[in-house]
Amino acid sequence: MHVYTHAACLAHDTGPDHAERPARLRTVLHALEAAHPDLDWQQAPAATRGQLLRVHDPRLLEAVLETQPTALHLLDPDTVLSPHSAEAALRAAGAGVAAVDAVLSGRTRRAFCAVRPPGHHATVSAAMGFCLFNNIAVAARQAIDGHGLERVAIVDFDVHHGNGTQAIFERDARVCFASTHQWPLYPESGARNETGCGNIFNVPLPKGTDGPVFRTAWRDELLPAVEAFRPQLLLVSAGFDGHRLDPLAGWLLEAADYAWLTGELVALAERHAGGRIVSLLEGGYDLTALAECCVAHVDVLRM
Ligand SMILES: [Zn+2]
Repeated sequence: MHVYTHAACLAHDTGPDHAERPARLRTVLHALEAAHPDLDWQQAPAATRGQLLRVHDPRLLEAVLETQPTALHLLDPDTVLSPHSAEAALRAAGAGVAAVDAVLSGRTRRAFCAVRPPGHHATVSAAMGFCLFNNIAVAARQAIDGHGLERVAIVDFDVHHGNGTQAIFERDARVCFASTHQWPLYPESGARNETGCGNIFNVPLPKGTDGPVFRTAWRDELLPAVEAFRPQLLLVSAGFDGHRLDPLAGWLLEAADYAWLTGELVALAERHAGGRIVSLLEGGYDLTALAECCVAHVDVLRM
């Protein structure tokens, strides 16, 4: 199984006391190397301008790539640009593109992108919520425009709603988006009645949501919706900030809950998508929990 990462993703400096910090990725990489010595590590290439422009407005590319800050520069109250951020953003988006290429060309069946900054809050024209480019949206468009796929499913189990991903695809029936998220919570979107063109499936769940409630939402509502879509490729916005130790949210999930959902996704991908899954790291802000959850997720994906 391919795992994509790049040193630039560690050099993206968000300043002191920022939750989305380099230590997150460093911890994930060490944990994956220790737990799974047989992973096939790949250098993430930089996404091209053309790949980014399938999703983003040229003004966002300019803001991220041409600002060239010499110190910390805020794009929004949470979202920081620093001297190495442009390269990190290009590599994080490029990881998803390369992983899609590898999976759709048959070089590997599944891939995990251990990257930062995360992506699912970034909209067509705005960086927000720690996200510069929408990595998973760029990956989905690579599958559609680069490989001619007609049905790509994006499953988002980050505790925050993937508002950017939803906005990018809510009028695009080639993409199905399914999400559980804590509500109310940042970014305050993701109500059940946000259904796009019949391709958006949101299950907001309250603070205190535990494993049984989370699993029921996926088993009874979201997995059947994705199943009915018959995706040719499954993409995963893998955020682990629903863990009970996470400081940014109020859910009570355990690594075993993420492993369970990953297993369900593998089974679904086997039925419809030739087993093909590309998973991209999104949130997760308690280092111990994040490492444990990533190892559990990859443990199931690699089978
Ligand atoms: Zn999150």
